Amino acid sequence: MRLGIALAVALALPLAACSSKVEVTPATEGVTDAMLIDGVEGEWLTYGRDYGEQRFSPLEQISADNVGELGLAWSVDLDTARGQEATPLVHDGVMYITTAWSKVKAFDAATGAVKWEYDPEVPRETLVRACCDAVNRGVALYGDKVFVATLDGRLIALEQETGKVVWSEVVVPNQEDYTITGAPRVAKGMVLIGSGGAEYKARGYIAAFDHETGKEVWRWHTVPGNPADGFENDAMEKAAETWAGEWWKLGGGGTVWDSITYDPKTDLVLFGTGNAEPWNPGANGRMGTEGADDNLYTSSVVAVDLTTGEYRWHFQETPEDRWDYDSNAQITITDLEIDGKMRHVALHAPKNGYFYMLDAETGEFLSAGSFAEQNWTLGIDPKTGKPQINPEARYEQTGKPWIGMPGAGGAHSWQPMSFSPVTGLVYIPANLAAFPYMAAEGWEESDIGFQTGVDLSSVAMPADEAVRKAAMDATTGALIAWDPVKQEARWTVPFKGPWNGGTLATAGNLVFQGDANGNFNAFSADAGKKLWSFPAQTGVIAAPMTYSINGEQYVAVLAGWGGVWDIATGVLAHKSDAPINVSRLLVFKLGATGKLADPPASADRVLDPPPFLGTEEQAATGSQVYARYCSVCHGDAAVAGGLNPDLRHSATLADKDTFKTIVIDGALSPPEGGGNGMVSFNKALKPEDVETIRQYLIKRANEDLALSKK
Ligand code: CA
Repeated sequence: MRLGIALAVALALPLAACSSKVEVTPATEGVTDAMLIDGVEGEWLTYGRDYGEQRFSPLEQISADNVGELGLAWSVDLDTARGQEATPLVHDGVMYITTAWSKVKAFDAATGAVKWEYDPEVPRETLVRACCDAVNRGVALYGDKVFVATLDGRLIALEQETGKVVWSEVVVPNQEDYTITGAPRVAKGMVLIGSGGAEYKARGYIAAFDHETGKEVWRWHTVPGNPADGFENDAMEKAAETWAGEWWKLGGGGTVWDSITYDPKTDLVLFGTGNAEPWNPGANGRMGTEGADDNLYTSSVVAVDLTTGEYRWHFQETPEDRWDYDSNAQITITDLEIDGKMRHVALHAPKNGYFYMLDAETGEFLSAGSFAEQNWTLGIDPKTGKPQINPEARYEQTGKPWIGMPGAGGAHSWQPMSFSPVTGLVYIPANLAAFPYMAAEGWEESDIGFQTGVDLSSVAMPADEAVRKAAMDATTGALIAWDPVKQEARWTVPFKGPWNGGTLATAGNLVFQGDANGNFNAFSADAGKKLWSFPAQTGVIAAPMTYSINGEQYVAVLAGWGGVWDIATGVLAHKSDAPINVSRLLVFKLGATGKLADPPASADRVLDPPPFLGTEEQAATGSQVYARYCSVCHGDAAVAGGLNPDLRHSATLADKDTFKTIVIDGALSPPEGGGNGMVSFNKALKPEDVETIRQYLIKRANEDLALSKK
C-alpha cells in the first residue's frame, strides 16, 4: 500500500520533482562530524565511542595497577524496572542516557545532578509486539541536539540544553509490526536508524533522516517486496531470486535492529540484518522446492553509500537462516596487519558463533573462526566464507526437533564487544546456550504475538529434574578475548550463566564488564585476570563507558537485568544468581567510597498454587496456547525471569473469571491497570483457550512445587 501511494504521488508531481531530494546541511557547531571522526579526549560522543565502534578509550588514569581503588562516585535510581541496555554518552560535562521505555535523561557527569528528563510516553501496550523487553540502547548527539528512537517507532530530536522536543516523526512503516530499540547514529547530518520486528511481520530496512527536520533522505530495504509492485532497485531484484513462495506477505524479516557503523574512510554505512521471517521456512515455503534458498539479505552484513543509500556490497553470514541467527551484533572497523599487509577490516561476531573478518571497503571475506560451540555447520569454506550447513539442522525438512548450538539467543547478541588496538584483541561477551527448534505443524499466521512457525510447546522444558539439570549445566557464558588475525581465543573468563554485559577496553590495560550474577568487574586486558569487582545487586547487561572531567576519569554503566534472555527462557533465566531487576546508573572513580542502598526485598518465591482440578487434555492444549502466546514474556514452561510476573505465583490462578478478565478483557491493560503492557489477547484467544492456559499454569505450578519439596 505504501508503494501504491508513493507511486501515485510520484505520478502526480512534475518530472522535476523527481530530483527534489532532501538537502542535508551538516552541523557546524556543537557536536560536529570532525569531532565524531577524530574523537574528543575525555568524551564519549557516539554509541560505540568512535565511528568504528571500537569501544576503546585512550584514558589510562584508571589502570590495571590502581583499579582496586575504584569506588562508587555517584548513582541514580531509575524510574523503570526493565532491562537497561543503553551506553551513556558524555559531551561538555553532561551525560545522556536512555532507559527502558525509551526515556532520556541528562545529568551533570561529575556529580549526577539531574539536568533534564524526557519521557516519550511509549504506550505500554507496545510491549506485546516487542520481542525482547521494553529496552533502548541509547541516544545520538549531533549539532545542538540529542536523538532518541522509541519503542513505538518514533525518531525524536531534543535540544541538548533543555530536553525540549525539536521534532518527532514516526519512522516505522506501521506501529503494529515494527519496534525500535537501537541507538541512532549520525553522519554528515543524517540520522541513521532501522527497526526490529522480524519475529512479527516486518520488512527490514535502514533509513536516513535530516538532523534538522526529521525528513527522510533515503530508505534501503533489506529484503525484496512483492515483485508485482516492481522492485525499488537492482539489489532487490537480485535478492528476489533467492526467495520462493509469497515471502512478502509476512514481511520477510531481515530487520536492522542494532548495528549501524559509519566508516568515514569509505563513506559507507555498514549494518547487520536479522533473521528471515518466520523462522521456520516451511511455514510459508519461502525456500523453494529444494528448501535451500539463501533469502537475501537476511542475516548478513550489508554496506550502502551514506549519501545515497545505494547498495554497495553484502556478505551473508547465515544463508537460509531458520535459527534466528541475526547478524545484528555490533560491527567494528579497524586497520590490522594481515600477512605483512595493512588491511582495513570489519570485525563481526554474530549470533551464529563464528567470528568474521571482512574487507571493510569491498566486503571480501578474509577469514572466520568459531568463537563458541556450534553444530549448525560442518565447517566454513575458507575462500568464500560460505557455511556448509549441517543437514540435520534443517529441522523443517527432517521433521525432527533440532537442538541447535548456538540457540536463538545467539553466541553473541547486541551486548557490545570492544577492541583494543593495544592488545589487538576483541573482547566478546559470549553466550553458550542451545535452543530446541521444531517445525510447528499446520502453522498459520495470527494477528498478535510471535510469528515464528516454530513449535515452542513440544520442546518446552519438562518438569523433569534430570532434563532440567542437564540443560542448566549446558547453559553458560564467557568473556572471550579473541585474536581476530589468528582467529583464536587468547584467554577466556567463564561465567555461571549467559547474558552478561557488554565490554569496554581502555589504554589502562583494562576490560570492564558487568555480569548476570550482579557484579560489575574489571579484568586485565592482556591476561584476563580479575582485578576488581563491585556488587551491583542486579544483573548487568549494558556496556560500560568511560570519560574524564577536570582531570578525573570516571567509568559508568547502567545496571538492570532484563531483555530477551530474562523474559523468554523460563527456568534458564535463573541460571545466574541475580535475575532481579534493580535499575540504576552507576558511576565510579578512583578513591570514591559511595555505597548502594540495600536491594529491595525480593518477593516471597514460595509456590502456593491452587490444586489442579482440570483435565489433562485441558492442560495439554493450554501448554500449546501458552507456548505460542504467553511464553515469550512470561517464560518458557511458565517459569518467568525476574522481570515479568511469574504466573505460577499469580493469585488470579485461583479464579477462572478474574483470569479471563485479564487475558480477554484486558483488566491489567494500561492505563487502568497501571500496567506493564499486559494487553487483551481477545484478537487471538477465546475464553475456552484462556481456561486451558489457566489449567496448564496450575498444573505447572504444582509440578514445580512438588519438585521443590524433593
Ligand atoms: Ca531475530
